[in-house]
Amino acid sequence: MDIDDLAKRVAAGERRALARAITLVESARPDHRAQAARLLDALKGAGREALRIGLSGTPGVGKSTFIEAFGMFLIERGLKVAVLAVDPSSARSGGSILGDKTRMERLAREANAFIRPSPSQTQLGGVARRTREAVALCEAAGFDVVLIETVGVGQSETMVAGMADLFLLLIAPAGGDELQGVKRGIMEMADLILVNKADGALKETAMRTCADYAGALRLLRKRAQDPDGYPRAMTVSALSYDGLPEAWAAMGALAEWRRAQGYWAANRAEQARRWFEEELRAALLARLENDPRIRGMVADLGDSVAAGETSPGAAADKVLDVLDR
Ligand code: GDP
Repeated sequence: MDIDDLAKRVAAGERRALARAITLVESARPDHRAQAARLLDALKGAGREALRIGLSGTPGVGKSTFIEAFGMFLIERGLKVAVLAVDPSSARSGGSILGDKTRMERLAREANAFIRPSPSQTQLGGVARRTREAVALCEAAGFDVVLIETVGVGQSETMVAGMADLFLLLIAPAGGDELQGVKRGIMEMADLILVNKADGALKETAMRTCADYAGALRLLRKRAQDPDGYPRAMTVSALSYDGLPEAWAAMGALAEWRRAQGYWAANRAEQARRWFEEELRAALLARLENDPRIRGMVADLGDSVAAGETSPGAAADKVLDVLDR
């Protein structure tokens, strides 16, 4: 594969080249990993920066409807939009339920949109790496906004928030004063809570739900990286587009403020540092698992530890001793 040519075509914004590049970074084959690293390096100089938006919500809240509406809204404003998905369930089922183009038919037909379903991989760690690299590729390809979609499962939300500039939580209108079992930790990650389906018969319920969340957000500890009034709760309708301009304006104001205060750059730097550390950890683990001297040893030592003959710490040290040799 001609990596320099692929890099050029990705940088020129060719969607087919971008799709091929993402397929490359999804591969676990060592020769593909090496090519992916060269590709990402070649594209580093592009100096392009997208707004990376993480989006989460439980199934049925309207994520795909919202992404289609919001994506069209952004495209109408002259922006290029990429949609990536992190699907924690695909690791088990092998199928993908997120980022499916049939769920966003109109957006999928737009020349200025790029939609990529989540890959089926066995480990969330592998998905994290692939998604980070895919985000970097979309950015280098000149997309202005990269939406990273996930479902409401704590671990995947933390991962997506860890690679986004802004994190949105999509909520459905609900009666009663239950906050729909949204975990506090997930609320704490959100920059905007969007109560979707604020239309027709659901509008009033949506407004009440929104007020409940606004109240709950006020009780959270204030974060340094937030201006007054953030995190915010707002109502939107992915069906009627109501509230989309306001939500986009709120995202823009927050992004602007964070840029001006230096939090934007600091956040990206911190994310890059964490990414490196995770890469290092993954590489070390891979080396352990692939080292022929160690493979048998780990099983034997495991038996020995299970039988109470060796302490876990001493057994680990023995393995590391071999690695040092
Ligand atoms: P997802 O599972 O989170 O991706 O949810 P979907 O986008 O598939 O939407 C689930 C259901 O909610 C579908 O029947 C949508 O038509 C409906 N829905 C999504 N957004 C809205 C909205 O803004 N208003 C109303 N009334 N229904 C919506």
